Amino acid sequence: MKRNTGKQMTTTRAEAIKRYPKLGQLVTGEMKYGDGRSTLDVIDPTTGTTLGPVSMATEADADEALAAASAGFDVWRKMAVFERSKLLSRVADRIRESAEALAELLVLELGKPWNEALGEIEVAAGMWEWAAEEGRRAYGRVIPSRESNARQLVLVEPVGPVAAFVTWNGPLVTPSRKMSGALAAGCSILLRASEEVPACAFALGQIVYECGLPAGVLSVLSGDPVMLSSKWLESPVTRAVTFTGSTQVGKLLAQQAVAHMKRPIMELGGHAPVLVFDGVDVQTVVTRAVAAKFANSGQVCFAPTRFYIQRSTYADVVEAMTAEAKKVVVGCGFDPATRMGPLKSERRVRAVEDLVNDARRCGLRVTAGGRRLDRPGFFYEPTIVADATIEAKLSNIEPFGPIAALTPFDTYEEAITLANRLPYGLGAYVHARDFKTLHRATVDLEAGNVICNGWRATYPETPFGGHKESGMFSEGGIEGLRAFQNVKYVSLS
Ligand code: NAD
Repeated sequence: MKRNTGKQMTTTRAEAIKRYPKLGQLVTGEMKYGDGRSTLDVIDPTTGTTLGPVSMATEADADEALAAASAGFDVWRKMAVFERSKLLSRVADRIRESAEALAELLVLELGKPWNEALGEIEVAAGMWEWAAEEGRRAYGRVIPSRESNARQLVLVEPVGPVAAFVTWNGPLVTPSRKMSGALAAGCSILLRASEEVPACAFALGQIVYECGLPAGVLSVLSGDPVMLSSKWLESPVTRAVTFTGSTQVGKLLAQQAVAHMKRPIMELGGHAPVLVFDGVDVQTVVTRAVAAKFANSGQVCFAPTRFYIQRSTYADVVEAMTAEAKKVVVGCGFDPATRMGPLKSERRVRAVEDLVNDARRCGLRVTAGGRRLDRPGFFYEPTIVADATIEAKLSNIEPFGPIAALTPFDTYEEAITLANRLPYGLGAYVHARDFKTLHRATVDLEAGNVICNGWRATYPETPFGGHKESGMFSEGGIEGLRAFQNVKYVSLS
């Protein structure tokens, strides 16, 4: 297996812009362009200028994709599972072979640094690789019968065609998660690409077809979210809905899904607490915390955001985090020195500015950053806000940007209460030397992913999903596959 995470950048931004692809609708394995479809501009976050147009699907495209998903499901679910597995494994290989081309798209559309883009590509390839393997293990079971002449079987079957909707912060990993999971389970899938970062989803769709996917099993469309979600959820063709995005939109889609009795797989917002107890090695915790906090410019659903630090360690952590945040080099993702790129959009910069302005109004200390960069594009400084109170907006609204809020606590109980006080329950982190404290916290924290003395919240083989208002069902791991499967009990006598 060839890994690409150390691949040198051989391109320039200007060359990458020239190669930015023409984007159409991918239905029945073919890219369809033009034909009077309206377009939206895809914005380059590094300059605020246009990278190119993305066409908007028509109602006819949405219907054609539904018909394709229905026919494609019939073919795909009947294909031998070992053949399906080989195809998914080829996708993993092709993603790695295409790393440079995909990295260009990720850096252009999202602005992330080149090496971070390579990291995302490797994670995406790993998801396909894992799905290829685990998809072969859709084991059922035999239940001994009360009747002497009967066989009782539990079978695992694909749930059916899946409608998928994604947000923009993981242009390759989020579509990969949904496509690889659904296809490994034997489902066909209709994916609406994010209008803000569409090129990666389309490139991925084309890779899957180049690897031999039968026509219609996957469609990738861009277009009006309300039109596409209404069409796809109201149609009897689809049997499950998977969405990654905000809790607000997730609630709408889940209601729509349930109204049509479709399984709602919801991967929603978070505001992850970090509990730091006395006795930890402050510099080690802080160096890695800053790397985790400012990865993807803080636009990560499980990014550490609310740091609760035991009082005698608090001043040291504030000082060290301030110093580390000031060292983060912000710039263009194609510059090898860059450690953090721009935010995705003007909308995200305004949201972060609003949180920081409110923090200042509330009298909190902005010890690092706190300003937009004076240059074109959507750059904001890595920002540390100390002495955050529960009244501040930052303590309540998911920042989804490069801000960390720091607050002291005295007792374990106080720390857990602060951590659990929001309706979110996605990621949570605990740093402590004492095993009993770690153990207690894993029990008491209301979150789908609790990470102790570390920062990595997800791997292809581990389940990832939110509790409370952060979601329903999991992606990744065996649990992620199960979300796309039905159980069928069969009695033979
Ligand atoms: P958003 O919910 O506003 O938008 C997400 C996507 O949904 C966009 O492409 C949007 O066009 C589309 N959308 C809007 N209305 C829709 C509808 N009715 N039907 C179908 N699609 C619709 O979210 P955002 O602000 O763009 O993204 C950030 C949010 O996503 C954050 O809250 C973040 O935590 C969350 N997120 C969660 C995960 C996870 O795995 N839990 C991962 C990444 C991001």
